[in-house]
Amino acid sequence: MAEHSDPELPPLPYDYDALEPHISGQVLTWHHDTHHQGYVNGLASAEETLADARESDDFSDTAGALGNVTHNGCGHYLHTLFWDNMDPSGGGEPDGSLRDRIEEDFGSYEGWKGEFEAAASAAGGWALLVYDPVAKQLRNVAVDKHDQGALWGSHPVLALDVWEHSYYYDYGPDRGSFVDAFFEVVDWDHAAREYEKVVGRVE
Ligand code: MN
Repeated sequence: MAEHSDPELPPLPYDYDALEPHISGQVLTWHHDTHHQGYVNGLASAEETLADARESDDFSDTAGALGNVTHNGCGHYLHTLFWDNMDPSGGGEPDGSLRDRIEEDFGSYEGWKGEFEAAASAAGGWALLVYDPVAKQLRNVAVDKHDQGALWGSHPVLALDVWEHSYYYDYGPDRGSFVDAFFEVVDWDHAAREYEKVVGRVE
């Protein structure tokens, strides 16, 4: 049987206060140490429930645990990407092949950004820029929770967490100001690497 490693919380790739004044150290501390840790713990616990059920041949808790794997696993995955696609020296606009592809698939960078901001405004979870390997194109996706509204097979290239725990302490109900702040720290180099990775596999 293949060995699976237990899920682990990766350290934040910069200091907790490194994204100030755009995102406060307090919010990043709570968000990473409490919320993201909670998804890692939830995933580990659900995996344990599934393993115990297989051992004991008692599947009464299995359906709930399967849902917990999806919820917590997607939460763990997307938070990890979210930390990585921000950087204190971020901001600006994409360039290179990702820029070209955004212009090809959305008409212009502005067309992409307006659509992404509409997703961020409406989503009950995440706004994502994904690569859809079936249609072979970039798409924006509005996701509720961590997994509702996901597009099967698509690979997230850029993730923006719009759960209230992501911005309410800093911006109150003004989610739009938080989205503007995200664009001051967005790490397009990381997004470009994610894009190159998936396109290299698919095209
Ligand atoms: Mn979050």
